Amino acid sequence: MPFDINKIRKHFPILEEKINNNSLIYFDNAATSQKPLQVIERIIDYYKKENCNIHRGVHTLSQKATRAFEETRVKVKEFINAESSHEVVFTKGTTESINLVANSLGEKLLQEGDEVLVSAMEHHSNLVPWQMVCKKKKAHMKVIPFNDKGEIILEVFKPLLNSRTKILALSHISNALGTINPVKEMIAMAHEKDIPVLIDGAQAAAHIEIDVQALDCDFYCFSGHKMYAPMGSGVLFGKQEFLEMMEPYQGGGEMVDTVTFEETTYNELPFKFEAGTPNVESILGMGAAIDFVREYDLHEIRKHEEELLKYGTEALSRIEGLKIYGTAKEKSGIISFLLDGIHPYDAGTILDQLGIEVRTGHHCAQPVMDRYLIPGTVRVSFAIYNTMKEIDKLVGGLDTVKKMLG
Ligand code: PLP
Repeated sequence: MPFDINKIRKHFPILEEKINNNSLIYFDNAATSQKPLQVIERIIDYYKKENCNIHRGVHTLSQKATRAFEETRVKVKEFINAESSHEVVFTKGTTESINLVANSLGEKLLQEGDEVLVSAMEHHSNLVPWQMVCKKKKAHMKVIPFNDKGEIILEVFKPLLNSRTKILALSHISNALGTINPVKEMIAMAHEKDIPVLIDGAQAAAHIEIDVQALDCDFYCFSGHKMYAPMGSGVLFGKQEFLEMMEPYQGGGEMVDTVTFEETTYNELPFKFEAGTPNVESILGMGAAIDFVREYDLHEIRKHEEELLKYGTEALSRIEGLKIYGTAKEKSGIISFLLDGIHPYDAGTILDQLGIEVRTGHHCAQPVMDRYLIPGTVRVSFAIYNTMKEIDKLVGGLDTVKKMLG
């Protein structure tokens, strides 16, 4: 479908909302995106016409729901270009996907003295699970630094890979700085030393193309709710060879083949990692979100968000006393900034009065804030439905903030 911003906006009913009598301007897409009508309707339809537990029933409803659920798995497989849908595990989000790998793979690979390598710009979701497993296994977490612009330098990264490194866990795009990391090159460098790589793609899905085969990553994680899908839907892609060697992360129904008091044998992939009843309606909603995104050319979406980034960066840079954190050459539509002498919370509160929703704080990336010796930032993050006009209103809003607090 041609990229028509006015038509696209009409798909998102929430954009009609008013805040304090001002039209809603939603710039908090890195936290969660808004949902198009077809996603909302998919959830309603499921509960109206298909609601049933999946995989276990012989009756019509269960088979209908199961078919829709498994068709979504195929959609996800195509969306990320996985080799097989057995490599697509449904989770409730990026956090759960990373915890699954940290526990199951960490348990398998890590021994005392080993190292897990992460970057200094990770979201807490890609730090804490590794810290926990390292503590348990007496292993160490090593950190890849980034420069003032928020870039990882490959020459600095390379020597950190050594014979003790057992896992590299890295964000595709930083949620705090917007940096798009050179993950393809980093994966290739890690693979030269036989080190498996997990990519946290929470900020990438629906913004840039994801091709797990081209990247050659061993694991790729993302959350549906950041890509126009419902809360509680998420994906773990894992290469079959790894998923097969890993033990299940949780036990329960669905993940088993046979159970006796003496012994349990596990179900085949990917069900081995999907214990219990999943968030069926959210997963079906994620299928609808993928259909929505695929109606457009992903390059057009990327181009639109790049234009917003360029326009927003230039407009904000003209504001006296405003400093942008994260000025990497390769960036996605995220701008983190501070106004001289104004606390981010105060700025965010005044912008909210004007109907402009931004995020303030450390964005679950405290080490990033520590790196710059700041308590937090104001973060503006774009999605398919944002416009330059909204950015103009943000600039006006920041002027008001400065007049009131500066
Ligand atoms: N990783 C990154 C880079 C993120 O931005 C986020 C959420 O903001 C997460 C992980 C965690 O995602 P979720 O809370 O959906 O599990």
